Amino acid sequence: MSASSAGTTTRPTAHNWCRFQSWTPSAVVRPAGVEELASVVEQAAARGGRVKPIGAGHSFSPVAATDDVQLDLGALTGLTGIDREAGRVRVRAGTRLSALGPLLGAHGLALANMGDIDRQTVGGAISTSTHGTGLGHTGYSGMVAGLEILTADGRLRRVDAAHEPELFEAARVSLGALGVVTEVELAVCESFLLRAEERAEPIDETVSRFQERSRTADHHEFYWFPGTGLGLTKLNTRLPLGSGLDPLPPLRTKVMDGLLANGAYELMCRLGAAVPRTVPVLNGIACRGLDQRTYTDISYNVFAANRSVRFTEMEYAMPLEHFEQAFAGLREICAGMFRDGRGVSFPVEVRTAAADDVWLSTAHGRDSVYIAVHRYHREDPTDYFREVEDLFVSLGGRPHWGKMNTRDAAWTAQAYPRHADWCAVRDAVDPQRVFTNAYVDRLFGP
Ligand SMILES: Cc1cc2nc3c(=O)[nH]c(=O)nc-3n(C[C@H](O)[C@H](O)[C@H](O)COP(=O)(O)OP(=O)(O)OC[C@H]3O[C@@H](n4cnc5c(N)ncnc54)[C@H](O)[C@@H]3O)c2cc1C
Repeated sequence: MSASSAGTTTRPTAHNWCRFQSWTPSAVVRPAGVEELASVVEQAAARGGRVKPIGAGHSFSPVAATDDVQLDLGALTGLTGIDREAGRVRVRAGTRLSALGPLLGAHGLALANMGDIDRQTVGGAISTSTHGTGLGHTGYSGMVAGLEILTADGRLRRVDAAHEPELFEAARVSLGALGVVTEVELAVCESFLLRAEERAEPIDETVSRFQERSRTADHHEFYWFPGTGLGLTKLNTRLPLGSGLDPLPPLRTKVMDGLLANGAYELMCRLGAAVPRTVPVLNGIACRGLDQRTYTDISYNVFAANRSVRFTEMEYAMPLEHFEQAFAGLREICAGMFRDGRGVSFPVEVRTAAADDVWLSTAHGRDSVYIAVHRYHREDPTDYFREVEDLFVSLGGRPHWGKMNTRDAAWTAQAYPRHADWCAVRDAVDPQRVFTNAYVDRLFGP
């Protein structure tokens, strides 16, 4: 968001992290607390208006866009409760994941898994089914044990498996379409360390060992630069806190940080965008910079990375058993693009998550492989993403709600077994569609 100071700002222009999506809310309101929030929602509902919460604006899709009131939840932050025995904490929804790690760490606690950046808010991360990697772990929504949500009638409801269970299940992933989540109860674990091993190897080996490594390692993922024969693998092993730190020296970065947060890589991407035929050579040069690293650090320092070279992204979750077929098809698409002189400069990222029972989780009911494709932000992603999307959908893929996709309501209805239940909750708590936007309408109907 470009305007997010305390109070209300009128007719600002807002945009997402990569600036691919921009929109013009009628006003941006930053409530100081829940009472002010309730009054903003009530006023908008009374005049037949719309309200859309925004977290850190780190979605690639227009999931947080609105032409009416944008709610900036940046003032609703911090821990509000710790239940050590139950292994749960309560946290305000506007809290950034980057702040949550140290806040929990001060109490000897941690999130069991995290994605590859930590700029998101808790509310934003759960609303789009954000995930990390590891078949022993779900995404953030699977860690949600309870919620406080302000609905269109101005009521603040505390929901969990025993209280308004239908609303609880629906709100664990809601695309911000059911109300404003003000507080989240999250399952946490004891603080732990991660030993990270990052190395480059032939991509055929990376692919053939992916499922086995994903089942045996705590957290496994890999990157592949299209047009090259190299895979960059990451294997993270969980260790008790007392095992001893061996962090990266201050001037040495994680392998992909060294690249994706690097001015030289930005210049290479610019050159590739201007002269696509140079991309294979540039990808080869980028790969040469990838060497080996082993380090041990506090979990949140290892999970999260820096991403300063901007890109657009599409990511699909597929049943794990379709991984080889999906990746082979993707390689063919990339090979075709290189043959046509349309290079793909940004790497592909491949991760996993355990099946869960969250109604709109992208891993609902199945262990999943996530394959993410990217384009430098100055390049038009349309053709590449469309070809890849067709392939992934044909293999039962479901798009990350916070990333680019072209799905529609008919498709969503057949892809999610609890779709009708989610829509029934939406009809019950937001019959006037105070919390909708064009993206939610496309995916779930008006
Ligand atoms: C560089 C980068 C790296 C990323 N890495 C990963 C990754 O590793 N794994 C992954 O799965 N995704 C990843 N993402 C995607 C990102 O995690 C999601 O798009 C996430 O939703 C962004 O969180 P946010 O706080 O920015 O939410 P926003 O993008 O601001 O909002 C997302 C949705 O949440 C809703 N929302 C926000 N707060 C609330 C609230 N309090 N109550 C109700 N609704 C709310 C909004 O209305 C909107 O619908 C990445 C994105 C970027 C830009």
